Amino acid sequence: MKPLILIVEDEAPITTLLRYNLEREGFRVLEAVDGEEAMLLAAESKPDLVLLDWMLPLLSGIEVCRRLRRAPATKNVPVIMLTARGEEGDRVRGLNSGADDYITKPFSPSELIARIRAVLRRARPSGGDEILRYGDLAMDLAAHRVKRGNRGIHLGPTEFRLLRHFLEHPGRVFSREQLLDTVWGPDVYVEPRTVDVHIRRLRKALNNDSNDDLIRTVRSAGYALDVGAAT
Ligand code: CA
Repeated sequence: MKPLILIVEDEAPITTLLRYNLEREGFRVLEAVDGEEAMLLAAESKPDLVLLDWMLPLLSGIEVCRRLRRAPATKNVPVIMLTARGEEGDRVRGLNSGADDYITKPFSPSELIARIRAVLRRARPSGGDEILRYGDLAMDLAAHRVKRGNRGIHLGPTEFRLLRHFLEHPGRVFSREQLLDTVWGPDVYVEPRTVDVHIRRLRKALNNDSNDDLIRTVRSAGYALDVGAAT
């Protein structure tokens, strides 16, 4: 089945442009002109991805993103925010509100499609109901759940992708730059120290008093998943 993309945008010419390019690339398209309609359509139609404009009437794009993340029916739907050029602070706030990526207007159609495919790839594992394991850690990709032993672990979207990347390459050391490229995407502007922030959160979620630290810090090189790290 062709992936379904929900476009949330109040400017008709932009919606028309987006629809044209998406349909040409084999996507199905739904449209909403404001946040309220977006929330309804997202819950009802279960899109594979939401393309969400920042500047919307009534509810702002960022508020729509927060609400999508809060609602059980839509909390895992990938969101790409559309922002105007130069709104650096907005981008950071957008990513903090739970967006998976952002695209700056005006954008090239090929960039748009590449971003969408990358986010869909990250969100949808090729193996379907695959479970990734390492030590006493298990990640259920289909259910989007992580457990350590019997303890359920709650992770934010970025920590989830980071851990998934580590689980797919256990023991391998990745530099901050490599993690930025593969987990955040090659064109996303994020400072390397942002990686440290998310690693810290991931560590905190994974480890408690009775557990070994699963993340190995390799001085001046980066990070790796390593069961023997604390022993
Ligand atoms: Ca707009």
